[in-house]
Amino acid sequence: MTPTLALEQLMLHPRYDELIDALRSIAPVHIVDQADAAAADALRLVTTIGADVLGAEQTTPITAGGTPGWLRLGILDALTAWVDGRASTCRHNPHPSRPAPVVAAAWRPGLVACPACAYLVALPRGSERDRTCDACGRVCAGVEHGDGVWPGLLQLGSLIYQYGTCTDCRPAITPDPGPLRRPETAERDRPRGTARVRPRGSRGRGRGRGARR
Ligand SMILES: [Zn+2]
Ligand SMILES: [Zn+2]
Repeated sequence: MTPTLALEQLMLHPRYDELIDALRSIAPVHIVDQADAAAADALRLVTTIGADVLGAEQTTPITAGGTPGWLRLGILDALTAWVDGRASTCRHNPHPSRPAPVVAAAWRPGLVACPACAYLVALPRGSERDRTCDACGRVCAGVEHGDGVWPGLLQLGSLIYQYGTCTDCRPAITPDPGPLRRPETAERDRPRGTARVRPRGSRGRGRGRGARR
């Protein structure tokens, strides 16, 4: 089993939260503190980018099980590739041993960059790749034809993962039900911050309204 699939199984396990609690209790406090701070910074970035770039009013905490499989595997693959050294990085060489927010994208697997180098994972606006759905691979006609790509952000720990889908593949986001036991770990342990709003390049046209979570 690959690390990605192993991690996925762990996260989908009903007792995943207990495992995290146990790991936190035995990990050195300064490591836990650094990881928590990086996750909080990443969430702040997602919230800011979501509001400024995507127009999303808020982020939504979600569970691993409430995340579509392709998206869950995508972010976990980015995470494991970074942790085990398979991923390329920007010249600032972000490393999991120095927790800080990093950026990856569904359309550029194997590349992890610091936020200042996020342009490395950006797509030329309006290009064919910019119009390609990350879930089904379909190239959308473009928002001017009522067939835009819906951008989204997913955050897991310090990792911010960008993706875009066609209208049919937009993730049905199921908010994490029930009271969060510990909000600070909710920010760290599970993907959150899926901010989906206007299709790329919509500039307020076409289907770009609403659908805020
Ligand atoms: Zn960098
Ligand atoms: Zn699609």
